[in-house]
Amino acid sequence: MRAIVVGAGIGGLAATLSLRRAGCEVTLVEQAPRFTEIGAGIQLAPNATRVLRRLGLLDAVAARSVRPSRLSFRTWSDGGEICHYALGREAEDAFGAPYLQAHRADLHEALAAAVPPGSVRLNSVAVAIDQDDDSATVTTAAGERLEADLVVAADGVRSSARRWLFGPDEALFSGTAAYRALLPAERVADLDLPEYALWLGPGRHFVHYRVRRGELLNVVGVVGTDAARESWTARAEPEEQLRAFEGWDPRVRSLLGRTGTVLRYGIHTRAPLARWNLGRVTLLGDSAHAMVPFHAQGAAQALVDAAVLGDCLADTGPADVPEALDRYVGRRLTAATRVQAGSARAGEDYHLPDGPEADARNARLAAQAAENRFGPHAGAWGTDTFDERAS
Ligand SMILES: Cc1cc2nc3c(=O)[nH]c(=O)nc-3n(C[C@H](O)[C@H](O)[C@H](O)COP(=O)(O)OP(=O)(O)OC[C@H]3O[C@@H](n4cnc5c(N)ncnc54)[C@H](O)[C@@H]3O)c2cc1C
Repeated sequence: MRAIVVGAGIGGLAATLSLRRAGCEVTLVEQAPRFTEIGAGIQLAPNATRVLRRLGLLDAVAARSVRPSRLSFRTWSDGGEICHYALGREAEDAFGAPYLQAHRADLHEALAAAVPPGSVRLNSVAVAIDQDDDSATVTTAAGERLEADLVVAADGVRSSARRWLFGPDEALFSGTAAYRALLPAERVADLDLPEYALWLGPGRHFVHYRVRRGELLNVVGVVGTDAARESWTARAEPEEQLRAFEGWDPRVRSLLGRTGTVLRYGIHTRAPLARWNLGRVTLLGDSAHAMVPFHAQGAAQALVDAAVLGDCLADTGPADVPEALDRYVGRRLTAATRVQAGSARAGEDYHLPDGPEADARNARLAAQAAENRFGPHAGAWGTDTFDERAS
């Protein structure tokens, strides 16, 4: 079986590995001249690390990551702890795989290194996907026509493939923007910060955790913004971020004052679809279900998509591809759409103004922590099923 994967992000790389594991001959088409990921952190919940283990990459990623022992929710103004949730050994025992915090480049490199160089076409922009009953074709900007038994469009939140498959459709601005920075952990060693915390305040929240064996601190400040449109990526002055967190706990402000380069991202999503596949072509990852990042699940869902897609195509012949893709979407769409909705609700909840609503939220978070030591965001960590045998 021959497959073409469009897009070498986390989703496309994982799909390539998963399809190869299922016996497919895969061509990976990426528009960028080289594999790249941005300089930022990524959280890998147990549903993500189970997929990495299956792909034989968990040890390599874990060796460069951090295993936090807990997540602490804090109030914005005085840093008081609202509640905390267990991670570390407890989460690993409960979900059968570790919770990791990694540098995106480390994860991306581990995935990319496992793809045979001969399977990759860099500098190739897909400009069309066509199909007939027997095959699917990707046309590149250079005029090449690549033919296969199936095409997986893992072309991200700005996906063109969605439009080619299902008609006009644009990414939606979420009304939030994220400031992101990475800095040497030793630069803030004197601040007595919790190892991993999510600080909640009116119209904004703030997250920090360590990556790369604890050497770097990843910082994300999310702010609600009225701008109808927001640039995708822009360099921000550190002062802009400081102004956005005026009046916050002095530790947060000291940390923000030391970040150095800050990038500002407009957070975009995609509306849930009734289907991701058409004939021999399917979406995967952000192209299918881009979500706000407030449950740290976008890449995890892309990894699980890849694992399930591989399962559905194993032992399938070229003639049965459309049915196999139906099975893949049947196993993934409802679950991923639920995570999309849960992440959006978390954003609203995190940004409540001070007063009775925020007090009620804090009481609810504390009650949930007493009931479920991993918290509501753990709902997605253990529910997806795929063949977990390592390749
Ligand atoms: C602030 C923030 C924090 C986040 N934190 C987390 C987290 O902690 N944990 C988590 O699980 N998720 C997190 N996410 C979500 C996660 O980053 C994404 O869900 C994930 O990276 C999506 O991967 P993807 O492969 O689907 O898409 P992408 O990474 O966008 O990859 C798409 C690829 O397709 C290529 N491409 C596009 N069009 C074409 C074309 N026409 N031809 C050829 N190539 C093309 C692009 O160049 C790119 O390489 C976060 C997101 C944000 C914004």
